[in-house]
Amino acid sequence: MIVGDSGGFVNATHREDSNLPMTTGRLAAEMAIAAKAAGCRGYRTNVLSAYKVALDKSFVMKDLHKYRDMPEIPHRNLQFFTTYPDLVAQAAGTVITVDGVDNKAKKHDVMVSFRKNRSLTGRSATHTISGEASDENGHC
Ligand SMILES: Cc1cc2nc3c(=O)[nH]c(=O)nc-3n(C[C@H](O)[C@H](O)[C@H](O)COP(=O)(O)OP(=O)(O)OC[C@H]3O[C@@H](n4cnc5c(N)ncnc54)[C@H](O)[C@@H]3O)c2cc1C
Repeated sequence: MIVGDSGGFVNATHREDSNLPMTTGRLAAEMAIAAKAAGCRGYRTNVLSAYKVALDKSFVMKDLHKYRDMPEIPHRNLQFFTTYPDLVAQAAGTVITVDGVDNKAKKHDVMVSFRKNRSLTGRSATHTISGEASDENGHC
């Protein structure tokens, strides 16, 4: 039986951590106690497999199944690590710089910059998976 972080019981989407290790640890402990109570044959695979059944019934596996595709999303959408941080940094610079420009004009500039640098689908117009500059059709 494997529990906690070492078993990959981490819900990165909700930043849930210690509750999953604690729950999987409790379930494994309950199965170990039941296996011990079952006597010398209690630690056989068919008895310990009750841990997997308990896991599948628990919120742990239901939540992990629900969010199973989430880790792939940032890998396929590198704009989260390229265009968006750049835009936020630029916006912060625009807003906090005292240069005589009023806030309304600054907000307008920020919005124009966002709309210019991200497409309708939210994808960067300037970054690809390989990190090379190209447009959305892959033309460099
Ligand atoms: C910086 C940071 C901040 C975090 N903040 C939060 C938070 O705010 N809320 C939250 O819910 N979670 C948080 N987490 C996550 C949470 O700490 C972990 O999900 C949780 O501690 C995992 O529990 P675990 O028992 O699976 O593993 P661990 O807590 O890593 O326990 C594993 C233990 O096994 C021991 N060990 C390793 N190898 C061996 C060996 N060969 N022999 C004997 N012992 C061994 C280690 O020393 C360790 O004590 C945070 C994690 C980090 C790193």
